[in-house]
Amino acid sequence: MTKVNLHSTNRINSNKKHKLTTSYNTPQQELNKNDNKKLKLSLATLGIGGAVITAIAIGKYNKAQKLADSIDFKPAKTLQEAKEFAHKHLKIKKFELTDLDSANYINEALVNYNNNISSNHKKIVNSVKPTTANETGIASITWLCGFGGFLEFNEKQFNNLDNLINNFFNKHKSAIEKSDFDLFNFTEKQNSLISKFFDKSAMTKKEKLQFLEFSQKLNNIKNIDNPSACFINLVSDNEVLEIFKKNNLPTTLDEFSKLDSNNQRKIITDLMRNYNKKFKVQDGGPFQTINHEIGHVLHNKNIGSKKYSELIYHQGKSKEEIEKGVEKFSSQIGEDKIQAISGNITKYATTSPAEFVAETYSHLCNGGRFSNEIMDLYKKFGGVIPNNCAI
Ligand SMILES: [Zn+2]
Repeated sequence: MTKVNLHSTNRINSNKKHKLTTSYNTPQQELNKNDNKKLKLSLATLGIGGAVITAIAIGKYNKAQKLADSIDFKPAKTLQEAKEFAHKHLKIKKFELTDLDSANYINEALVNYNNNISSNHKKIVNSVKPTTANETGIASITWLCGFGGFLEFNEKQFNNLDNLINNFFNKHKSAIEKSDFDLFNFTEKQNSLISKFFDKSAMTKKEKLQFLEFSQKLNNIKNIDNPSACFINLVSDNEVLEIFKKNNLPTTLDEFSKLDSNNQRKIITDLMRNYNKKFKVQDGGPFQTINHEIGHVLHNKNIGSKKYSELIYHQGKSKEEIEKGVEKFSSQIGEDKIQAISGNITKYATTSPAEFVAETYSHLCNGGRFSNEIMDLYKKFGGVIPNNCAI
């Protein structure tokens, strides 16, 4: 997530690229997920300037905000039909996608969003077009206060998911396997998604995208790349806490952190083997990335650009810069909360409050439930709660 202030006005450029390459595979690699700093839209490229025009644009934009409380989504059969749906129901002025599956995916994602958010937040996307640059991210939203959101979707990537999944599984031989089912407490929906993959059942592109993001997350947890996050994930279960107490094992992250990493891993694997304890894993659902982007926009709108800009800790793609973000965030909220976020949401959510809010929002949209501690933090930073949130 990157934001660039266009000084004399309150316009913002927000641009987050989600890598769908191998960047989720290890915490290190995940930290490489970059937020490209790019000023895609400027006053010059919009051909406008000055506060008066901004005010007019805000008026127009506000007028266009009235979307139905609940919209019924039905996949379009032609691209033209999809465009008409976007104009009519989502009030999107420019809908320039060129691929039917992509168009249906975006319309469904935006309907899903619309139906689960309070009326004052319904309209945020004004224009949808294919990603023009040769980017690896699947989607980004550029937000300009007063003008709305400009969503770019990577149709190429969306039509290349088989290759991305194959690359991921080839590169990570230890990626989720059938035998790993025992390690996790999967929900029915998650089970069915994974089974489809192993049974080689036909999967929609939407399911493939979800599966790719999900399996990358599982791969991180399963390899116990980050024992502290695994520890936090497991001890959030009271029964586990009791087992630890009885066996004189560490019950707080502070105690756990004092052990060396081999011992930490051993405790976790023993617990799972001997007590049949499993990781809980929540995923962001089929629209994770779109909801992540929307989460940024809602956050920005909710607390204002000035405050929001203070919650972005990294803009570059270098590992160092992102790690600095984690360090800063950690010094602010404490290491235990950082690990709780990493273990229950994603590693990427630990890189800044802005990414924490966006990641949490996308999980909440998928019915995610988090501890009071995490939710208090989410509210404190100004995250918006979707209607269907299970809290
Ligand atoms: Zn982001």
